[in-house]
Amino acid sequence: MLLYNSLTRTRDEFKTYEPGKVKMYTCGPTVYHFAHIGNLRSYIMEDVLEKYFRYSGYEVKRVMNITDVGHLSSDADTGEDKMLKGAKREHKTVMEIAKYYTDAFFTDCEKLNIKTPDVVEPATGCIDDFIKVVSGLIEKGYAYIAGGNVYFDTSKLKQYYIFNNFDEDDLEVGVREGVEADDNKKNKNDFVLWFTKSKFEDQALKWDSPWGVGYPGWHIECSCISMKHLGERLDIHCGGIDNAFPHHTNEVAQSEAYLGHEWCPQWFHVHHLNTTGGKMSKSKGEFLTVSLLESKGYDPLAYRFFCLQSHYRKSLVFSYENLDNAAGAFTKLLAKIAALKNDGDVDQAKFDEYKARFVEALDNDLNTSLAVTALYDVLKADTNDATKKALIEDFDRVLSLDLTRERVAEDETPAIDPEFAAEIERLIAERAAAKKEKNFAEADRIRAYLADRGVTLLDSREGTTYKIG
Ligand code: AMP
Ligand code: ZN
Repeated sequence: MLLYNSLTRTRDEFKTYEPGKVKMYTCGPTVYHFAHIGNLRSYIMEDVLEKYFRYSGYEVKRVMNITDVGHLSSDADTGEDKMLKGAKREHKTVMEIAKYYTDAFFTDCEKLNIKTPDVVEPATGCIDDFIKVVSGLIEKGYAYIAGGNVYFDTSKLKQYYIFNNFDEDDLEVGVREGVEADDNKKNKNDFVLWFTKSKFEDQALKWDSPWGVGYPGWHIECSCISMKHLGERLDIHCGGIDNAFPHHTNEVAQSEAYLGHEWCPQWFHVHHLNTTGGKMSKSKGEFLTVSLLESKGYDPLAYRFFCLQSHYRKSLVFSYENLDNAAGAFTKLLAKIAALKNDGDVDQAKFDEYKARFVEALDNDLNTSLAVTALYDVLKADTNDATKKALIEDFDRVLSLDLTRERVAEDETPAIDPEFAAEIERLIAERAAAKKEKNFAEADRIRAYLADRGVTLLDSREGTTYKIG
Protein backbone atom coordinates (compact mmCIF):
# COMPACT_ATOMS: atom_id res chain seq x y z
CA MET A 1 0.00 0.00 0.00
CA LEU A 2 1.26 3.48 -0.87
CA LEU A 3 0.57 6.05 1.79
CA TYR A 4 1.65 9.67 1.94
CA ASN A 5 4.06 10.17 4.81
CA SER A 6 4.30 13.72 6.15
CA LEU A 7 7.77 12.93 7.47
CA THR A 8 9.32 12.04 4.10
CA ARG A 9 6.85 14.19 2.17
CA THR A 10 6.40 11.38 -0.35
CA ARG A 11 4.04 8.51 -0.92
CA ASP A 12 5.88 5.58 0.60
CA GLU A 13 5.18 1.88 0.74
CA PHE A 14 3.48 1.35 4.09
CA LYS A 15 5.61 -0.83 6.35
CA THR A 16 5.49 -2.10 9.89
CA TYR A 17 8.22 -2.97 12.38
CA GLU A 18 6.67 -6.35 13.01
CA PRO A 19 5.27 -8.23 10.00
CA GLY A 20 1.47 -8.26 9.91
CA LYS A 21 1.02 -6.00 12.93
CA VAL A 22 0.22 -2.30 12.99
CA LYS A 23 0.78 -0.13 16.03
CA MET A 24 -1.27 2.98 15.46
CA TYR A 25 -1.70 6.12 17.54
CA THR A 26 -4.37 8.78 17.11
CA CYS A 27 -4.50 12.16 18.83
CA GLY A 28 -7.82 12.19 20.62
CA PRO A 29 -10.23 15.03 21.29
CA THR A 30 -9.83 17.86 23.78
CA VAL A 31 -13.03 17.27 25.68
CA TYR A 32 -14.08 20.81 26.58
CA HIS A 33 -16.84 21.00 24.00
CA PHE A 34 -18.65 18.91 21.40
CA ALA A 35 -16.53 17.65 18.52
CA HIS A 36 -17.37 19.60 15.38
CA ILE A 37 -17.81 17.83 12.08
CA GLY A 38 -14.33 19.02 11.06
CA ASN A 39 -12.76 17.10 13.95
CA LEU A 40 -14.91 14.17 12.96
CA ARG A 41 -13.67 14.30 9.38
CA SER A 42 -10.23 13.47 10.79
CA TYR A 43 -11.64 10.62 12.88
CA ILE A 44 -13.64 9.24 9.94
CA MET A 45 -10.58 9.12 7.69
CA GLU A 46 -8.45 7.57 10.44
CA ASP A 47 -11.20 5.00 10.95
CA VAL A 48 -11.11 4.14 7.24
CA LEU A 49 -7.33 3.77 7.46
CA GLU A 50 -7.55 1.47 10.47
CA LYS A 51 -10.29 -0.61 8.87
CA TYR A 52 -8.36 -0.85 5.64
CA PHE A 53 -5.33 -2.16 7.53
CA ARG A 54 -7.54 -4.82 9.09
CA TYR A 55 -9.20 -5.56 5.72
CA SER A 56 -5.71 -6.03 4.26
CA GLY A 57 -4.98 -8.67 6.89
CA TYR A 58 -3.05 -6.69 9.49
CA GLU A 59 -3.62 -7.11 13.17
CA VAL A 60 -4.05 -3.56 14.49
CA LYS A 61 -3.57 -2.10 17.94
CA ARG A 62 -4.85 1.42 17.98
CA VAL A 63 -4.42 3.80 20.90
CA MET A 64 -6.05 7.18 21.45
CA ASN A 65 -5.69 9.73 24.23
CA ILE A 66 -8.39 11.93 25.66
CA THR A 67 -7.05 15.41 26.38
CA ASP A 68 -8.60 16.34 29.69
CA VAL A 69 -5.78 18.55 30.99
CA GLY A 70 -2.97 20.74 29.69
CA HIS A 71 -4.22 21.92 26.28
CA LEU A 72 -3.99 25.67 26.52
CA SER A 73 -5.92 28.12 24.37
CA SER A 74 -2.84 28.72 22.28
CA ASP A 75 -0.77 25.79 21.06
CA ALA A 76 2.28 27.83 22.08
CA ASP A 77 1.78 27.31 25.83
CA THR A 78 -0.11 30.50 26.48
CA GLY A 79 -3.66 31.24 27.47
CA GLU A 80 -5.99 29.35 29.70
CA ASP A 81 -6.40 25.58 29.90
CA LYS A 82 -9.22 24.75 27.48
CA MET A 83 -10.78 22.37 30.00
CA LEU A 84 -10.96 25.07 32.64
CA LYS A 85 -12.49 27.42 30.12
CA GLY A 86 -15.16 24.82 29.34
CA ALA A 87 -15.85 24.22 33.03
CA LYS A 88 -16.27 27.94 33.69
CA ARG A 89 -18.54 28.30 30.68
CA GLU A 90 -20.86 25.59 31.93
CA HIS A 91 -20.45 26.06 35.68
CA LYS A 92 -19.33 22.48 36.12
CA THR A 93 -16.15 20.89 37.39
CA VAL A 94 -13.40 20.03 34.92
CA MET A 95 -14.00 16.31 35.46
CA GLU A 96 -17.75 16.71 34.84
CA ILE A 97 -17.00 18.54 31.61
CA ALA A 98 -14.49 15.85 30.62
CA LYS A 99 -16.98 13.05 31.22
CA TYR A 100 -19.85 14.78 29.48
CA TYR A 101 -17.91 15.64 26.33
CA THR A 102 -16.03 12.34 26.23
CA ASP A 103 -19.40 10.54 26.22
CA ALA A 104 -20.74 12.99 23.62
CA PHE A 105 -17.68 12.32 21.44
CA PHE A 106 -18.17 8.56 21.49
CA THR A 107 -21.90 8.95 20.83
CA ASP A 108 -21.02 10.96 17.71
CA CYS A 109 -18.45 8.36 16.71
CA GLU A 110 -21.03 5.62 17.04
CA LYS A 111 -23.45 7.50 14.81
CA LEU A 112 -20.72 7.85 12.21
CA ASN A 113 -19.69 4.19 12.50
CA ILE A 114 -16.25 5.18 13.81
CA LYS A 115 -14.85 2.25 15.73
CA THR A 116 -13.63 2.95 19.28
CA PRO A 117 -9.83 2.47 19.41
CA ASP A 118 -8.55 -0.60 21.24
CA VAL A 119 -7.16 1.62 23.99
CA VAL A 120 -8.59 4.98 25.02
CA GLU A 121 -6.59 6.73 27.72
CA PRO A 122 -7.38 10.05 29.42
CA ALA A 123 -4.33 12.19 30.14
CA THR A 124 -5.29 12.59 33.80
CA GLY A 125 -4.82 8.83 34.26
CA CYS A 126 -1.13 8.90 33.32
CA ILE A 127 0.46 11.57 35.50
CA ASP A 128 3.15 9.19 36.80
CA ASP A 129 4.13 8.31 33.25
CA PHE A 130 4.52 12.00 32.36
CA ILE A 131 6.64 12.65 35.46
CA LYS A 132 8.89 9.69 34.58
CA VAL A 133 9.55 10.91 31.04
CA VAL A 134 10.00 14.57 32.03
CA SER A 135 12.50 13.47 34.72
CA GLY A 136 14.33 11.40 32.11
CA LEU A 137 14.53 14.38 29.77
CA ILE A 138 16.00 16.56 32.52
CA GLU A 139 18.57 13.87 33.36
CA LYS A 140 19.60 13.58 29.73
CA GLY A 141 20.02 17.34 29.45
CA TYR A 142 17.13 17.90 27.07
CA ALA A 143 14.99 19.83 29.52
CA TYR A 144 15.51 22.68 31.94
CA ILE A 145 13.64 24.36 34.74
CA ALA A 146 12.89 28.06 34.48
CA GLY A 147 10.45 30.20 36.39
CA GLY A 148 9.12 27.05 38.04
CA ASN A 149 8.15 25.32 34.78
CA VAL A 150 9.98 22.53 32.99
CA TYR A 151 10.83 23.30 29.35
CA PHE A 152 12.12 21.17 26.49
CA ASP A 153 15.31 22.65 25.06
CA THR A 154 14.88 22.54 21.28
CA SER A 155 18.42 23.82 20.69
CA LYS A 156 19.72 20.39 21.79
CA LEU A 157 18.28 18.76 18.66
CA LYS A 158 20.00 18.39 15.29
CA GLN A 159 16.69 18.95 13.53
CA TYR A 160 13.60 20.31 15.22
CA TYR A 161 11.28 21.10 12.29
CA ILE A 162 10.61 17.66 10.89
CA PHE A 163 7.41 18.20 8.94
CA ASN A 164 7.76 21.70 7.58
CA ASN A 165 10.63 24.02 6.85
CA PHE A 166 9.39 26.87 8.95
CA ASP A 167 11.29 30.07 9.03
CA GLU A 168 12.05 30.96 12.65
CA ASP A 169 10.77 34.46 11.97
CA ASP A 170 7.38 33.11 10.90
CA LEU A 171 6.99 31.78 14.39
CA GLU A 172 8.00 34.91 16.13
CA VAL A 173 5.86 36.15 18.95
CA GLY A 174 3.05 38.31 17.71
CA VAL A 175 3.18 36.93 14.18
CA ARG A 176 1.17 33.85 15.06
CA GLU A 177 -2.17 34.57 16.59
CA GLY A 178 -2.39 34.22 20.36
CA VAL A 179 1.35 33.78 21.01
CA GLU A 180 2.71 35.79 23.86
CA ALA A 181 6.33 36.06 24.96
CA ASP A 182 7.48 33.68 27.67
CA ASP A 183 10.72 35.04 29.07
CA ASN A 184 11.56 31.74 30.70
CA LYS A 185 12.20 30.08 27.36
CA LYS A 186 15.81 29.87 26.23
CA ASN A 187 14.78 29.41 22.60
CA LYS A 188 11.68 30.59 20.82
CA ASN A 189 10.37 27.10 20.19
CA ASP A 190 11.05 25.56 23.55
CA PHE A 191 7.84 24.19 24.96
CA VAL A 192 6.49 23.38 28.38
CA LEU A 193 6.65 19.80 29.63
CA TRP A 194 5.34 20.53 33.11
CA PHE A 195 3.70 23.71 34.37
CA THR A 196 3.93 24.87 37.94
CA LYS A 197 3.81 28.61 37.44
CA SER A 198 1.26 29.73 35.00
CA LYS A 199 -0.25 33.12 34.74
CA PHE A 200 -3.56 31.87 36.06
CA GLU A 201 -3.71 30.57 39.58
CA ASP A 202 -6.98 28.72 39.45
CA GLN A 203 -5.96 25.67 37.39
CA ALA A 204 -8.40 23.07 38.68
CA LEU A 205 -6.34 19.92 38.33
CA LYS A 206 -2.88 19.82 39.87
CA TRP A 207 -0.55 17.06 40.95
CA ASP A 208 2.58 16.75 43.05
CA SER A 209 5.77 16.48 41.06
CA PRO A 210 9.51 16.77 41.72
CA TRP A 211 9.21 20.36 40.40
CA GLY A 212 6.30 21.39 42.58
CA VAL A 213 2.54 21.08 42.34
CA GLY A 214 1.42 21.50 38.75
CA TYR A 215 0.15 19.85 35.61
CA PRO A 216 1.52 18.43 32.38
CA GLY A 217 1.90 20.20 29.05
CA TRP A 218 -0.31 18.96 26.21
CA HIS A 219 2.41 17.44 23.99
CA ILE A 220 3.93 15.13 26.60
CA GLU A 221 0.65 13.26 27.04
CA CYS A 222 0.61 11.79 23.54
CA SER A 223 4.25 10.67 23.70
CA CYS A 224 3.73 8.98 27.06
CA ILE A 225 0.37 7.40 26.30
CA SER A 226 1.75 5.99 23.09
CA MET A 227 4.85 4.59 24.85
CA LYS A 228 2.71 3.16 27.65
CA HIS A 229 0.56 1.09 25.32
CA LEU A 230 2.61 0.65 22.15
CA GLY A 231 6.14 0.49 23.51
CA GLU A 232 9.21 2.34 22.27
CA ARG A 233 8.28 2.24 18.58
CA LEU A 234 5.01 2.66 16.78
CA ASP A 235 4.25 2.28 13.08
CA ILE A 236 1.95 5.16 12.32
CA HIS A 237 0.72 8.27 14.07
CA CYS A 238 -2.41 10.14 12.95
CA GLY A 239 -4.04 13.50 13.47
CA GLY A 240 -5.43 16.55 11.74
CA ILE A 241 -2.96 18.64 9.74
CA ASP A 242 -3.05 21.48 12.30
CA ASN A 243 -1.40 19.08 14.75
CA ALA A 244 1.74 18.70 12.62
CA PHE A 245 3.16 21.85 14.16
CA PRO A 246 3.74 22.35 17.00
CA HIS A 247 2.04 19.30 18.57
CA HIS A 248 3.50 16.42 16.55
CA THR A 249 6.81 18.19 16.06
CA ASN A 250 7.12 18.44 19.84
CA GLU A 251 5.97 14.86 20.34
CA VAL A 252 8.79 13.63 18.10
CA ALA A 253 11.35 15.92 19.73
CA GLN A 254 10.68 14.74 23.27
CA SER A 255 10.05 11.06 22.43
CA GLU A 256 13.24 10.60 20.42
CA ALA A 257 15.28 12.61 22.91
CA TYR A 258 13.97 10.40 25.71
CA LEU A 259 14.28 7.08 23.90
CA GLY A 260 17.50 7.83 22.04
CA HIS A 261 16.20 6.33 18.79
CA GLU A 262 13.59 6.72 16.08
CA TRP A 263 10.07 6.65 17.50
CA CYS A 264 7.56 6.78 14.68
CA PRO A 265 8.49 6.57 10.99
CA GLN A 266 5.07 7.23 9.39
CA TRP A 267 2.72 10.19 9.87
CA PHE A 268 -0.82 10.43 8.51
CA HIS A 269 -2.37 13.90 8.52
CA VAL A 270 -5.94 14.64 7.51
CA HIS A 271 -6.54 18.02 5.94
CA HIS A 272 -9.20 20.35 7.21
CA LEU A 273 -12.86 20.66 6.74
CA ASN A 274 -13.50 24.32 6.15
CA THR A 275 -16.64 26.33 5.94
CA THR A 276 -17.06 28.83 3.14
CA GLY A 277 -15.89 31.39 5.75
CA GLY A 278 -12.62 29.57 6.58
CA LYS A 279 -11.35 26.95 9.04
CA MET A 280 -13.90 25.39 11.31
CA SER A 281 -12.75 25.59 14.90
CA LYS A 282 -14.12 24.77 18.31
CA SER A 283 -12.60 27.78 19.97
CA LYS A 284 -14.48 30.16 17.65
CA GLY A 285 -17.59 28.75 19.29
CA GLU A 286 -19.50 28.54 16.03
CA PHE A 287 -19.38 24.98 14.96
CA LEU A 288 -21.42 22.30 13.34
CA THR A 289 -22.09 19.13 15.23
CA VAL A 290 -23.50 15.75 14.28
CA SER A 291 -26.56 16.47 16.44
CA LEU A 292 -27.19 19.68 14.55
CA LEU A 293 -27.06 17.80 11.23
CA GLU A 294 -29.44 15.20 12.64
CA SER A 295 -31.84 17.83 13.87
CA LYS A 296 -31.92 19.14 10.32
CA GLY A 297 -32.89 15.67 9.13
CA TYR A 298 -29.54 14.38 7.84
CA ASP A 299 -28.47 10.80 8.39
CA PRO A 300 -24.99 11.01 10.04
CA LEU A 301 -23.82 8.37 7.56
CA ALA A 302 -24.61 10.79 4.74
CA TYR A 303 -21.92 13.00 6.29
CA ARG A 304 -19.53 10.03 6.38
CA PHE A 305 -20.33 9.43 2.71
CA PHE A 306 -19.66 13.14 2.01
CA CYS A 307 -16.21 12.77 3.61
CA LEU A 308 -15.39 9.57 1.74
CA GLN A 309 -16.10 11.26 -1.57
CA SER A 310 -12.98 13.39 -1.23
CA HIS A 311 -9.33 12.65 -0.58
CA TYR A 312 -8.07 13.05 2.97
CA ARG A 313 -5.14 15.17 1.81
CA LYS A 314 -7.33 17.83 0.23
CA SER A 315 -9.15 20.37 2.29
CA LEU A 316 -12.88 19.96 2.00
CA VAL A 317 -15.43 22.75 1.98
CA PHE A 318 -18.57 22.16 3.92
CA SER A 319 -21.79 23.80 2.81
CA TYR A 320 -25.33 22.57 3.13
CA GLU A 321 -25.52 22.54 -0.66
CA ASN A 322 -22.54 20.17 -0.83
CA LEU A 323 -23.97 18.01 1.93
CA ASP A 324 -27.37 17.93 0.19
CA ASN A 325 -25.70 16.65 -2.96
CA ALA A 326 -23.92 13.92 -1.04
CA ALA A 327 -27.04 13.02 0.95
CA GLY A 328 -29.10 12.79 -2.25
CA ALA A 329 -26.52 10.56 -3.91
CA PHE A 330 -26.31 8.42 -0.77
CA THR A 331 -30.08 7.88 -0.68
CA LYS A 332 -30.08 6.85 -4.35
CA LEU A 333 -27.15 4.53 -3.76
CA LEU A 334 -28.92 2.85 -0.84
CA ALA A 335 -32.10 2.45 -2.90
CA LYS A 336 -30.16 0.75 -5.71
CA ILE A 337 -28.53 -1.61 -3.22
CA ALA A 338 -31.84 -2.36 -1.50
CA ALA A 339 -33.29 -3.38 -4.87
CA LEU A 340 -30.66 -6.12 -5.39
CA LYS A 341 -32.14 -9.60 -5.27
CA ASN A 342 -30.91 -12.85 -3.83
CA ASP A 343 -30.41 -14.56 -7.15
CA GLY A 344 -28.03 -17.42 -6.75
CA ASP A 345 -24.35 -18.00 -6.27
CA VAL A 346 -21.50 -15.52 -6.18
CA ASP A 347 -19.43 -15.40 -9.35
CA GLN A 348 -15.95 -15.66 -7.83
CA ALA A 349 -14.08 -14.40 -10.90
CA LYS A 350 -16.22 -11.24 -11.06
CA PHE A 351 -15.93 -10.83 -7.30
CA ASP A 352 -12.14 -10.90 -7.51
CA GLU A 353 -12.08 -8.54 -10.49
CA TYR A 354 -14.14 -5.83 -8.76
CA LYS A 355 -12.52 -6.30 -5.38
CA ALA A 356 -9.17 -5.66 -7.07
CA ARG A 357 -10.43 -2.24 -8.21
CA PHE A 358 -11.45 -1.34 -4.68
CA VAL A 359 -8.11 -2.47 -3.29
CA GLU A 360 -6.24 -0.60 -5.99
CA ALA A 361 -8.05 2.63 -5.03
CA LEU A 362 -7.27 2.33 -1.34
CA ASP A 363 -3.73 1.08 -1.91
CA ASN A 364 -3.21 4.35 -3.73
CA ASP A 365 -2.84 6.64 -0.72
CA LEU A 366 -6.26 5.73 0.65
CA ASN A 367 -8.16 7.12 -2.29
CA THR A 368 -11.65 6.80 -0.85
CA SER A 369 -13.31 8.72 -3.65
CA LEU A 370 -12.02 6.13 -6.15
CA ALA A 371 -13.15 3.40 -3.75
CA VAL A 372 -16.65 4.89 -3.87
CA THR A 373 -16.41 4.89 -7.67
CA ALA A 374 -15.47 1.19 -7.47
CA LEU A 375 -18.69 0.70 -5.51
CA TYR A 376 -20.74 2.36 -8.25
CA ASP A 377 -18.92 0.19 -10.80
CA VAL A 378 -20.17 -2.88 -8.93
CA LEU A 379 -23.77 -1.74 -9.31
CA LYS A 380 -23.25 -1.31 -13.05
CA ALA A 381 -21.32 -4.57 -13.44
CA ASP A 382 -22.33 -7.32 -15.79
CA THR A 383 -22.93 -9.93 -13.12
CA ASN A 384 -25.72 -11.26 -10.92
CA ASP A 385 -27.10 -9.48 -7.85
CA ALA A 386 -25.68 -12.04 -5.42
CA THR A 387 -22.15 -11.17 -6.56
CA LYS A 388 -22.89 -7.45 -6.32
CA LYS A 389 -24.26 -7.84 -2.81
CA ALA A 390 -21.27 -9.88 -1.69
CA LEU A 391 -18.91 -7.21 -3.06
CA ILE A 392 -20.82 -4.38 -1.41
CA GLU A 393 -20.80 -6.17 1.93
CA ASP A 394 -17.09 -6.74 1.53
CA PHE A 395 -16.35 -3.06 0.71
CA ASP A 396 -18.51 -1.94 3.61
CA ARG A 397 -16.06 -3.55 6.05
CA VAL A 398 -13.93 -0.50 5.25
CA LEU A 399 -16.44 2.15 4.18
CA SER A 400 -18.80 1.43 7.11
CA LEU A 401 -21.83 3.07 5.52
CA ASP A 402 -24.27 0.31 6.52
CA LEU A 403 -24.86 -0.18 2.82
CA THR A 404 -26.86 -3.37 3.12
CA ARG A 405 -28.65 -2.61 6.37
CA GLU A 406 -32.43 -2.49 6.07
CA ARG A 407 -33.57 1.01 6.85
CA VAL A 408 -37.06 1.92 7.96
CA ALA A 409 -38.46 4.38 5.46
CA GLU A 410 -39.46 7.69 7.00
CA ASP A 411 -43.19 7.19 6.44
CA GLU A 412 -42.94 3.74 7.99
CA THR A 413 -41.44 5.02 11.22
CA PRO A 414 -43.53 3.49 13.97
CA ALA A 415 -45.82 6.14 15.43
CA ILE A 416 -44.96 7.04 19.02
CA ASP A 417 -47.63 6.67 21.60
CA PRO A 418 -48.96 10.25 22.08
CA GLU A 419 -48.72 9.96 25.86
CA PHE A 420 -45.07 8.94 25.63
CA ALA A 421 -44.39 11.79 23.17
CA ALA A 422 -45.95 14.25 25.63
CA GLU A 423 -43.82 12.85 28.45
CA ILE A 424 -40.67 13.28 26.36
CA GLU A 425 -41.57 16.90 25.59
CA ARG A 426 -42.29 17.53 29.28
CA LEU A 427 -38.92 16.06 30.29
CA ILE A 428 -37.09 18.08 27.63
CA ALA A 429 -38.64 21.22 29.11
CA GLU A 430 -37.74 20.12 32.65
CA ARG A 431 -34.18 19.43 31.55
CA ALA A 432 -33.89 22.87 29.95
CA ALA A 433 -35.15 24.43 33.19
CA ALA A 434 -32.68 22.36 35.24
CA LYS A 435 -29.83 23.49 32.99
CA LYS A 436 -30.91 27.10 33.37
CA GLU A 437 -30.74 26.68 37.12
CA LYS A 438 -27.32 25.07 36.69
CA ASN A 439 -28.66 21.82 38.06
CA PHE A 440 -26.60 19.75 35.65
CA ALA A 441 -26.93 16.57 37.66
CA GLU A 442 -30.70 16.68 37.16
CA ALA A 443 -30.27 17.50 33.46
CA ASP A 444 -27.96 14.51 33.06
CA ARG A 445 -30.38 12.31 35.00
CA ILE A 446 -33.20 13.20 32.60
CA ARG A 447 -30.98 12.47 29.60
CA ALA A 448 -30.02 9.08 31.08
CA TYR A 449 -33.65 8.29 32.00
CA LEU A 450 -34.76 8.92 28.43
CA ALA A 451 -31.78 7.06 26.99
CA ASP A 452 -32.82 3.99 29.00
CA ARG A 453 -36.19 4.23 27.24
CA GLY A 454 -34.58 4.38 23.81
CA VAL A 455 -34.85 8.17 23.41
CA THR A 456 -31.73 10.05 22.35
CA LEU A 457 -31.74 13.77 23.02
CA LEU A 458 -30.12 15.91 20.36
CA ASP A 459 -28.85 19.26 21.62
CA SER A 460 -28.10 22.05 19.23
CA ARG A 461 -28.01 25.81 19.31
CA GLU A 462 -31.63 25.83 18.19
CA GLY A 463 -32.74 23.75 21.18
CA THR A 464 -33.28 20.07 21.94
CA THR A 465 -34.94 17.54 19.67
CA TYR A 466 -35.01 13.78 20.04
CA LYS A 467 -34.69 10.55 18.18
CA ILE A 468 -36.19 7.16 19.00
CA GLY A 469 -33.96 4.13 18.72
P1 AMP B 1 -9.02 18.78 19.26
O1 AMP B 1 -10.23 18.20 19.92
O2 AMP B 1 -9.11 20.26 19.03
O3 AMP B 1 -7.75 18.39 19.98
O4 AMP B 1 -8.96 18.16 17.79
C1 AMP B 1 -9.25 16.82 17.50
C2 AMP B 1 -8.75 16.45 16.11
O5 AMP B 1 -9.45 17.17 15.08
C3 AMP B 1 -7.27 16.73 15.88
O6 AMP B 1 -6.70 15.62 15.18
C4 AMP B 1 -7.27 17.97 15.02
O7 AMP B 1 -6.11 18.06 14.24
C5 AMP B 1 -8.50 17.72 14.16
N1 AMP B 1 -9.11 18.94 13.57
C6 AMP B 1 -9.27 20.16 14.16
N2 AMP B 1 -9.93 21.01 13.32
C7 AMP B 1 -10.21 20.31 12.19
C8 AMP B 1 -10.87 20.63 10.94
N3 AMP B 1 -11.42 21.81 10.72
N4 AMP B 1 -10.95 19.65 9.99
C9 AMP B 1 -10.41 18.42 10.23
N5 AMP B 1 -9.78 18.06 11.37
C10 AMP B 1 -9.67 18.98 12.35
ZN1 ZN C 1 -1.51 14.21 20.28
